[in-house]
Amino acid sequence: MLLKDLRTHYTSKIDPAEMADKKVSVAGWVHEVRDLGGICFVVVRDREGRGQVTLVKKKTDPELLEKARGLVRESIVSVTGVVKPEAKAPNGYEIIPEQITLLNEAESPLPMDTTGKVDADLDTRLDSRFMDLRRERTTAVFTIRHEVLKAVRGFLSSSGFVETSTPKVVATATEGGTSLFPITYFDREAFLNQSPQLFKQMLMSGGLDRVFEIGPIFRAEEHDTRRHLNEATSIDIEASFCDHFDVMEILENMVAYVYDQVIANCSRQLEVLGVELAVPQTPFMKISYDEAITIVNSYGEESLKWGDDLSTLSEHTIGNHVFNETGQSHYFIIDWPTEVKPFYAKPYEDKPELSKSFDMMHRTMELSSGAQRIHDPEQLKSRIESQGLNPEGFEFYLRAFRYGMPPHGGWGIGCDRLVMTMLGVENIRDVVLFPRDRRRLSP
Ligand code: ATP
Ligand code: MG
Repeated sequence: MLLKDLRTHYTSKIDPAEMADKKVSVAGWVHEVRDLGGICFVVVRDREGRGQVTLVKKKTDPELLEKARGLVRESIVSVTGVVKPEAKAPNGYEIIPEQITLLNEAESPLPMDTTGKVDADLDTRLDSRFMDLRRERTTAVFTIRHEVLKAVRGFLSSSGFVETSTPKVVATATEGGTSLFPITYFDREAFLNQSPQLFKQMLMSGGLDRVFEIGPIFRAEEHDTRRHLNEATSIDIEASFCDHFDVMEILENMVAYVYDQVIANCSRQLEVLGVELAVPQTPFMKISYDEAITIVNSYGEESLKWGDDLSTLSEHTIGNHVFNETGQSHYFIIDWPTEVKPFYAKPYEDKPELSKSFDMMHRTMELSSGAQRIHDPEQLKSRIESQGLNPEGFEFYLRAFRYGMPPHGGWGIGCDRLVMTMLGVENIRDVVLFPRDRRRLSP
């Protein structure tokens, strides 16, 4: 028998009315074996759902019945049989089996429960992520994450962006040397890249005009929070002949489109998670950095001075303030002090202490940072120096500005945080398959 013949249908794709008395094969994990008086049920689970296999003891070949009763939970089986409509069974049908093939037997006890009946803590689930993925909720999260990435690719591609891949092993820090993972690269020191920033800007000089990248970023910071990982997935764009307002518009429209697509294509998964989504209204509200500081100080829980970065607490204060005023969860903080932002953010010509930069916020946390960039090589070099960095290390990058660099802008949005805030999940580790944090390097 060919492997592909072991499964003719996903359990959810069997229509009881149309397929009554037809022969089908389903394959997957033994979710449950229930051995009742005169009847034995085997529930087979696959990615899409569950199907019930029913063996009426008196009418079943004893050898087949023995095989069914002996199945160990979470083993892999293929069941071939005839479809009968049955209103009480999952998806409205049952399969009367002719053949059961055991393909891989699971050991017991299992490392964790997959039925959703017993709550396992996050660490246990992450230690056995392969098994955690068999839970309906976890499958739903990662199916939605796929939809988010698909929507991002669709949106950006149809907005004229070219998808690119830039190196993750690099010789220079993007924004200074503090938060980098050093690695050995033959006989030299190299680093894991903390952002595709420098590369995507060089692509503007290259004339690709609009680029995006979806890829890993590495941050060697020792944070222990619910929204930071040491390896995250970033969605980055860079676009020529765009200022910060132009790229903010692209960002808010992309986020709205992503929500729209998840609502349209993931209704079953949203239901499993008990999440009701609404598309965020565009344009997002814009408040200036100055206003943000005033809002924080007006609540009296913190006292910020001009030039301070926003703390986690102040992000919450502003997020709740905006939400209470407008009912919206997403907003921009614009016009940050030049010194708070990375060297490549472009200062306003008439007010160089302010930069053409922004953060896009969710009520609960920062989702994205962006800016119009400096495209003049001399100004860029002096900004690198004034941030205490050595321009020599940036020569490969500065060169791209000397031979025709268009004005440009861009942003990076954390994919993990986008999914996390969309689903109202408390911990970023829940939306990342194999999270990397201070303590976790395996699996
Ligand atoms: P934060 O201040 O919240 O630590 P950041 O300002 O250092 O974030 P940026 O360098 O602006 O982050 O990166 C752009 C986006 O990438 C962030 O807004 C966030 O969504 C995501 N991101 C950055 N660092 C991390 C991380 N350590 N874990 C998860 N996501 C991250
Ligand atoms: Mg930021």
